[in-house]
Amino acid sequence: MTLKLTTAEELSQDLTADVAVLMLTHVNYRSGRMFDMAAVTAQAHAVGALTVWDLAHSAGAVPVDLNAAQADFAIGCGYKYLNGGPGAPAFVWAHARHADRFWQPLSGWMGHAHPFTFDTLYAPAQGISRYLCGSPAVLAMSALECGVDTLLAAEPHGGMAALRAKSLKLTDLFIAQVRERCTAHSLPVVTPTSHGERGSQVSLACPQHGYAVMQALIARGVIGDFRAGDGTAAEPDLLRFGFTPLYVRFVDVFDAVTALAAVLDSGEWREARFNQKAAVT
Ligand SMILES: *Cc1c(COP(=O)(O)O)cnc(C)c1O
Repeated sequence: MTLKLTTAEELSQDLTADVAVLMLTHVNYRSGRMFDMAAVTAQAHAVGALTVWDLAHSAGAVPVDLNAAQADFAIGCGYKYLNGGPGAPAFVWAHARHADRFWQPLSGWMGHAHPFTFDTLYAPAQGISRYLCGSPAVLAMSALECGVDTLLAAEPHGGMAALRAKSLKLTDLFIAQVRERCTAHSLPVVTPTSHGERGSQVSLACPQHGYAVMQALIARGVIGDFRAGDGTAAEPDLLRFGFTPLYVRFVDVFDAVTALAAVLDSGEWREARFNQKAAVT
């Protein structure tokens, strides 16, 4: 059972002259597969398309250099690897060459050129400020600031490059441990094993009872998530594990696989409490 990954070749076949905008998730939320941002952006530009990169699973997880890639726009959320907590503000990025030429549809007074004149007509501010909406949720911003500070605290210790190196070691260890210690169960690794194509997560195909398996894991303190497939071999049900290199330790990876093996070997996922579907999976 394999997860169908859009390959770079398929992507370039789809990038034809009638494509205006390529909207792509840099690290796919299901597979954990990462695209080469610079190469794909160059391909998009070659057919005259703009790029909008979704960095939900990239920001704080893998090195991202939007300017070097000549990307056009990017968006992302603050509550995953930026540690802002549920409801954290999202972010938008626009390349300086576009910043004054676009604005986002949720215009609000904070993005106005003169917010305190309360004009009847909307005049967007210059530059990235025009992408702001109304008054920000200051409490949520404060929490996000702490989350980002946590990331910045790694700067003197090698910053994102060091975090990336650790992240790859964590995911390598997880993959090796699953293969070594869960051999009695079918849990194919669907995330690319090549480092250049892997984000900071590992997804395992779990053809049966994946939801209950994840609930039993969560009860043991290992919090991953379950992503339902469409029932076909190309889109299997997935167990997804995210590795935040700032504070996930190697021993946590080892313990997580111990828990996974125990849940599967014991069959404890069969308990009724693990089989009641909740809204958040
Ligand atoms: C989490 C996530 C988002 C963020 O969406 P919000 O509306 O900010 O919660 C966007 N794209 C992907 C692929 C995600 O996984």
